[in-house]
Amino acid sequence: MPGPKPNDRTPTGAEPIPTARLTLTSYQRAIVEHLAEGDTTPRSLGALLVKAAAFDAAREAEPRWAGARRAHRRATPHRTDALIDFEIPAASGAAIALGPGETMRIEQVADGQGVDLCAQELAGRRRRLSAGRTRAIHGLHPTTGAVLWSTPPEVALLTIVTDTAPSHDLTFPACTPLEYEQLTGLPGHLSCSQIHAELAETRGLGAPGVDDVLNLWLPTAVDIAAMLRWWPTWCRRGDRIDLRAERKVLVTLSTCPDDLFGASQYAPSPVRVIVRGSRANAFRDRRVTLLPHRPELRHELEIELSPASSDRLATLVERGWLGYTAGAVARALLFRWYEALGGQRHFGATPPSAGSSQVASKGQRSVQSSPTSSFTWA
Ligand SMILES: [Zn+2]
Repeated sequence: MPGPKPNDRTPTGAEPIPTARLTLTSYQRAIVEHLAEGDTTPRSLGALLVKAAAFDAAREAEPRWAGARRAHRRATPHRTDALIDFEIPAASGAAIALGPGETMRIEQVADGQGVDLCAQELAGRRRRLSAGRTRAIHGLHPTTGAVLWSTPPEVALLTIVTDTAPSHDLTFPACTPLEYEQLTGLPGHLSCSQIHAELAETRGLGAPGVDDVLNLWLPTAVDIAAMLRWWPTWCRRGDRIDLRAERKVLVTLSTCPDDLFGASQYAPSPVRVIVRGSRANAFRDRRVTLLPHRPELRHELEIELSPASSDRLATLVERGWLGYTAGAVARALLFRWYEALGGQRHFGATPPSAGSSQVASKGQRSVQSSPTSSFTWA
């Protein structure tokens, strides 16, 4: 969407915004209700946002976010010569078998969806991706030309051949329920580790949840105290990474269900997968396993904005790093504030369960699930 037009009111020239409409997952809604002590009227949420916006304005400026977030790219045209072209739904996963020389493109269809990638040989020793070995050879942020290596004795599994938004991470493990529960006090959050474990089980590999992954599009760094840091994903729709298979491999991908830390820009979204190669090389067995799209309630909340938080939102919408609507930026500010202060450890008693929020509410949308499917193209 186009950014606000300049006026005289704010130093950056952005126009004030009267209200913000937030779309929230059930976990997000449970936390917002907790912060507002159950009173989720537009006015009480506005008071909450004033605090979050003031906290954000007082934080040290992020050098990474100087200037505006860059433009999106055109989506890859649909071509009939693709062996596979499909979308992995939000908070779900897929396993894709590749033959030597085939390439797999993973492409953003929304702005800023993190993806955890794992790979495993489909023959021989069935070695899996080694984040440690790959990191030792290519550093923390592999990009074009980097080879994804296996556990010992090492072999090349995949090579990155195109990368339009280099910001991939080899420091963090796949997300697990632990980090969500530490933040919120709420158990049972879906995680990338669980998604990869379900994919392995469905494919009959019997492997436990993965730990070593390549975190696609997760901006990270090591700080001066040698602690790991991350930022919300900044890739735009149309950004893509191409990987070439160096042997027969099974690639498992999860569209990260993180709605609290920014790995999905606080709005888990789908990604697109395109495989190209020789049809003569195509697999006779199952090529793709796609997990079901889990039922997902999204709750709509409207916030009345004070002049101060309105100005802050208008400025941030113009820059785009936390989203391109007032609602997206307001949501990001609330959860960045919650995380920075330590979540439930700071705000007191554990929020009500996210499950209790999954009751009918005005504006709610639900997404129907479908059974696990395995299908083959080409
Ligand atoms: Zn994740």
